[in-house]
Amino acid sequence: MPEWPEMDTYRRLLSPLLNGRVILRAVVNREKTINEAPEAFAEALEGKRILYVERRGKHLLFHLDDGYRLLLHLMLGGYLHYGEHAPKEDEHYQVILTFDDGNRLFFGGLRLGFLHRLSAKAALEQLKELGPDPFDARLTAAAFKDRLSKRRGKLKSALTDQKFLSGIGNCYGDEICFDAEIRPDAAIPELTEETKDRLFASMRSVLTEAAANGGYMDRPLTPTDTFTGGHDDKVKIYDREGEACPRCGGTIRLETLSGRKMFYCPDCQRNA
Ligand SMILES: [Zn+2]
Repeated sequence: MPEWPEMDTYRRLLSPLLNGRVILRAVVNREKTINEAPEAFAEALEGKRILYVERRGKHLLFHLDDGYRLLLHLMLGGYLHYGEHAPKEDEHYQVILTFDDGNRLFFGGLRLGFLHRLSAKAALEQLKELGPDPFDARLTAAAFKDRLSKRRGKLKSALTDQKFLSGIGNCYGDEICFDAEIRPDAAIPELTEETKDRLFASMRSVLTEAAANGGYMDRPLTPTDTFTGGHDDKVKIYDREGEACPRCGGTIRLETLSGRKMFYCPDCQRNA
């Protein structure tokens, strides 16, 4: 599932392509992907200009000039393609937007994901429970440690809880723990102050590096896009069971934590 770096890569690449563009047409091939009747959705979008694209957690918000927003969550398997033509037949895409410059935005793989048209107020309401962005200026190291101190349970469960922090999921939860040399299943009350400091620094450095590399999703956004997915072969621990730890040479282990995968190195990631 795309996380902070992947969604921010989309935001960064889409902004210069979409900002100021007018939607000429919206085609809906899967009614469940949207939140109103397809005809009403298409009619409401026709002629609307996209002002800018924003990311909130793992969501993208397309701000329209009528005060409405399109709220996108790709969930598992969702992806975007932009260009005059799609790599596959049009009916494989759940929603297609056509713009006034002839380009189109294709929304694919949205079986669990959604694209909702919402008023500004409704969009805020839907996102109100999201925790702070990892790069929120108000989220200082002290504020991060304070939030963490109020939690019980396992570290990774907090890091990937969207109400605690927005944008971190299964992959980067493990990557951040690896970078901070702490096990994902460490008990939060046991964490030392030094570990919490390292976690805060690792959270920002891991996400910054992954976004600078274009995230791990290997599907290009446009036919000429060679940036997206550049981080895929730079992921250090996630999905690397049995491989050598890039830090100490130990063997990377896969275990289950609250029903989700957890990758870690038993030799260099500590318990507290
Ligand atoms: Zn190791």
